[in-house]
Amino acid sequence: MQRVRERVRLAAARSGREPRQIKIIAVTKGVEVPRVREVVQQGITDLGENRVQEMTGKITALPPDINWHMIGHLQTNKVKYVVGRVALIHSLDRWSLAEEINRRAVKVGVAVGVLVQVNTSGERTKQGLTPGELPDFLTALRDLPRITVHGLMTIAPYARNPEEVRPYFRELRLLAAKHKLKHLSMGMTNDYEVAVEEGADMLRLGTAIFGTRDIKK
Ligand SMILES: *Cc1c(COP(=O)(O)O)cnc(C)c1O
Repeated sequence: MQRVRERVRLAAARSGREPRQIKIIAVTKGVEVPRVREVVQQGITDLGENRVQEMTGKITALPPDINWHMIGHLQTNKVKYVVGRVALIHSLDRWSLAEEINRRAVKVGVAVGVLVQVNTSGERTKQGLTPGELPDFLTALRDLPRITVHGLMTIAPYARNPEEVRPYFRELRLLAAKHKLKHLSMGMTNDYEVAVEEGADMLRLGTAIFGTRDIKK
């Protein structure tokens, strides 16, 4: 944890940014509650999960003041377990999901903050809108009053050399600037320093914090 914070600080310094503007989200998939609790005691306030069931279990088991982030592909029929319980949904990747989030938010009487997931690398296995689809999608979202778009999210392809994914992070930053969106969720264990240099303000870190786990991503 100390080491991660130090590397974030150095990457921030290299790019003239303030480390405290960069939020570390500890990704807890496959991690048992006691181990998550340790990290919370070390000052982590934000946790991320990519599976709804695992998240809801942990929400009940951990302190109530944690900010939860839904970071994985979200099935429409699971939206009801997420709305009203998470601080931010990072993985808004299609219109039908937006409609369902809004519908549910109206029903429960809450507002929902989201990031729109963009597939800047064009990798076929990755979810997310193409950069070309983004403008119309953002315009359409204005008709869903309970959804507030805070920014953009991307998942870079794995690269042995993280420099290779810099263009995908840079593109996300430029897209966000163009649409006057503030937050950028990008950077995982393999590439978070490059992401910080390209303007990330939310890092989603699993392995860097918890070590290697035996799970499917
Ligand atoms: C698992 C996961 C992460 C964290 O990955 P690490 O490489 O372990 O840091 C980040 N974002 C998403 C969407 C994930 O599913």
